Amino acid sequence: MKNIVIIGGGIGGMGVATTLAQKLKNANITVVNKEDFYFAGPSRPLILTGEQRYSRIIRGYEEVGKLGINVVIGNVYKIDPDNRKVYLSDSSFNSTREISYDYLVLSPGIVFDGSKITGYDKYWWKNTTVYDPGRVNVLKQRLWTAEKGTVVVYAPKAPYRCAPAPTETAMLAHTILSYRGVRNKFRIIHIDANDKTQPPVIADVIKQIYEKAGIELVTNQEIVEIGENYVVTKSGEKYNYDILAMLEPNKVPRFIEESGLGSPFADVRSPQDLRTPKYDDILVVGDAAKLPFPKNQEIAFESSQFAANKILEMEGVSEKVSVQYAFVGWAYVGNLEGKLETYSLQFQLDLTKQPPAAAKDPVMKREYTLQKDNWEQAYLSRLFNYKVIE
Ligand SMILES: Cc1cc2nc3c(=O)[nH]c(=O)nc-3n(C[C@H](O)[C@H](O)[C@H](O)COP(=O)(O)OP(=O)(O)OC[C@H]3O[C@@H](n4cnc5c(N)ncnc54)[C@H](O)[C@@H]3O)c2cc1C
Repeated sequence: MKNIVIIGGGIGGMGVATTLAQKLKNANITVVNKEDFYFAGPSRPLILTGEQRYSRIIRGYEEVGKLGINVVIGNVYKIDPDNRKVYLSDSSFNSTREISYDYLVLSPGIVFDGSKITGYDKYWWKNTTVYDPGRVNVLKQRLWTAEKGTVVVYAPKAPYRCAPAPTETAMLAHTILSYRGVRNKFRIIHIDANDKTQPPVIADVIKQIYEKAGIELVTNQEIVEIGENYVVTKSGEKYNYDILAMLEPNKVPRFIEESGLGSPFADVRSPQDLRTPKYDDILVVGDAAKLPFPKNQEIAFESSQFAANKILEMEGVSEKVSVQYAFVGWAYVGNLEGKLETYSLQFQLDLTKQPPAAAKDPVMKREYTLQKDNWEQAYLSRLFNYKVIE
């Protein structure tokens, strides 16, 4: 009986676990997740406008037991690749334990790292984003109660988790402030460390939408300092803010860095062979992996299927699941008229082509927002083995 331990019960981790539970007989599959629930990412920004409810995007792990997957709740703080051990702490009982593995899959996603931004230690609490359950709630409260001022939205250098999320934040801020009838009392400034908004395939359309919404766009500017009511970029420009939605640079959790598997992202042999260069029995999937692709749910899931295939191959199972790197994505662009009915852009990226083939529909549509919801719900139902009662 092989012990397969998967760190992270999100999109990548549950993707590997559910596929192996189906295809690999005689294996113990254990998923370790630090919380006893999963909070999905893609529609989190709609918490701001009240178009999404927490109950629809949170899933528990109870139903995956029926698939033969064992879930352990604990925070992994160390791995020992030479002795094939994972160390985790259980915060509720203040205890620690270790688990041995034959194969280890790392899919803990990323952490947000503001440590290189001067003043971050002192003023981190001034910042919010759409990225975490708590912070998106604070951002919502600030956008719905402030009377005037400047909203600064920031995207760090790519790759970071969910390319369009900063643009979505700026457009949803515009929507809420317009709905409240106070838009003319606010400036919205999107500062981007990249030469255009991400993903590049829709940057030209976003530029036009920003012009209509009166959102100021500053590109090629990296934030290096944060103060109580201002940020400063590398070239010395200072921007005052009243509401700050600054995405910090992303990197892998510390236990991966400390095990020498790579930083800021974990090294893999190739997008199709996700084993770490040094260890045949450790594979990395999802946002934590250093892949030449955007960091999003589709890539996380597709990489999980390549990893599952590799484990099946190493275990002598000839059957494989069919997978390739290509996806359709949607970016929320809010509502220019200030109705709480978000429109979206649709884009596609086929990474099997060289250079990658990108396409888009330049017209924002309401139906794309609904398609994104269906897509997200379908993933959650598949990976967590139940549908939410609407
Ligand atoms: C606001 C937002 C908007 C997004 N929008 C989109 C979108 O529109 N389209 C799209 O395709 N993607 C989108 N994404 C990105 C998508 O959610 C991620 O790319 C995807 O979830 C990555 O999968 P993952 O398995 O790498 O990480 P996750 O799904 O985040 O799973 C990681 C899991 O590991 C757990 N974990 C972390 N550290 C530890 C540890 N030390 N010990 C134990 N467990 C640990 C976490 O609790 C989590 O459950 C969005 C994400 C966010 C946050």
